[in-house]
Amino acid sequence: MLNIIIFGPPGSGKGTQSAKIVEKYKLIHLSTGDLFREEIEKDTPLGRKVKEYIDKGLLVPDKIVLREFYCRASEHMDSPGFVFDGFPRTIVQAEALDRMLNRQNIPINLVISVEVEENELFKRMMSRSEDSGRSDDAEEIIWRRIEVYKEQTLPLLNFYTKQGKLATINGMAPVDEVFSKISHAIDTYLEKKKILSDIK
Ligand code: AMP
Repeated sequence: MLNIIIFGPPGSGKGTQSAKIVEKYKLIHLSTGDLFREEIEKDTPLGRKVKEYIDKGLLVPDKIVLREFYCRASEHMDSPGFVFDGFPRTIVQAEALDRMLNRQNIPINLVISVEVEENELFKRMMSRSEDSGRSDDAEEIIWRRIEVYKEQTLPLLNFYTKQGKLATINGMAPVDEVFSKISHAIDTYLEKKKILSDIK
């Protein structure tokens, strides 16, 4: 299995890049944000619950996220691998993900961090708000999401650096350029893995 986490602040292009990665490497795209938006769209009890947090720009509590995540991931454990997009977002989630995968002897192979400057994030999300219809793409909510990211999600960079899994990509470039750097990072990883398994 090839399991990749695409990591970055809101507005860094994680969704766009994930779609391109899953297409090229034939992986399953698992976005907790998309999953919650589907529930909100269907107006389910879960959708109504998570909307309270999402509309305020806050994170959905770990317990809810983990339950939904396990449920969705376990449907695809026989797939060639996953791109996790917008998950994990807290240390609690990252540790739970490690435990879940360790139990099955499956690692997270690569964490791709897409870096974009704060003002650019804001500009992108404001322009996206015109046609996204997302209730959390409003000015003060966008700033709150960026703050929440810095407080609760950014510490994960250190978590994955310590695990030696982090690849950092400059996201201040056109979509295709960013994708070609991401592909390069994935291919380099796959080559190294192959060389190591050939030696064994
Ligand atoms: P996204 O589409 O990834 O930007 O997610 C939209 C919103 O869904 C976030 O601002 C959070 O409120 C919520 N959300 C998505 N994924 C998570 C997660 N892993 N943990 C907590 N909240 C999440």
